Amino acid sequence: MQTPSHAGILWIISAPSGAGKTTLSRALIEQTPDLRHSVSYTTRPPRPGERDGEHYHFVDTATFEHMVEEGAFLEHAHVFGNHYGTGEDWVKRQLLIGTDVLLEIDWQGARQVRERLPKQTVSIFILPPSADVLEARLRDRGQDSEEVIALRTREAQREMMHYDEYDYVVVNDQLDVALAQLRCIVNAERLRLSRHTEEMRQRTRELLRL
Ligand code: 5GP
Repeated sequence: MQTPSHAGILWIISAPSGAGKTTLSRALIEQTPDLRHSVSYTTRPPRPGERDGEHYHFVDTATFEHMVEEGAFLEHAHVFGNHYGTGEDWVKRQLLIGTDVLLEIDWQGARQVRERLPKQTVSIFILPPSADVLEARLRDRGQDSEEVIALRTREAQREMMHYDEYDYVVVNDQLDVALAQLRCIVNAERLRLSRHTEEMRQRTRELLRL
């Protein structure tokens, strides 16, 4: 295996539900070479259509707790009554071979990852364009009661309170515009000199005929 010229970037995307995070992340991965999605572990039961190993690794609480004790998680958090965590091994291996990894995690997990891998992490928060649009999107999800919608709105507000801990904020009003902005962020971050120091040293040595 060839040694990569630089380590992969660990991307974090957080958002309240209803901001379009999953759609945007999926589209970003489809359009971006060398970017892979990390499949999280969770104790919540699968929703209709969700497959184990693809959307999440669905595990029971005992298994999750055992993994916490073993230090298997890069980060983990309790979100809306369920446990969620990012497996450390797979992520670190990808970064080592120069592949970028995308984590779709909440603000608590984002904090932990930033603390543990500050130089490799770039974090992005997705905001909905307005409270009305957010509420309409939360209502669109099904035939939920007013109580459930009010609960989701409060949870969304709690997540949004942390937007200013992130490196970038993208407002998802129109999907194609937000996606273009995400792609700009990825391209610019990948071009940072600090990620290519050795490669550029060699290149400039050659260009300057040293
Ligand atoms: P859902 O159950 O709707 O798929 O996700 C609920 C929340 O959990 C979302 O805010 C999502 O970003 C967050 N989440 C999903 N996976 C992880 C994870 O591995 N770690 C953390 N900290 N949050 C996660």
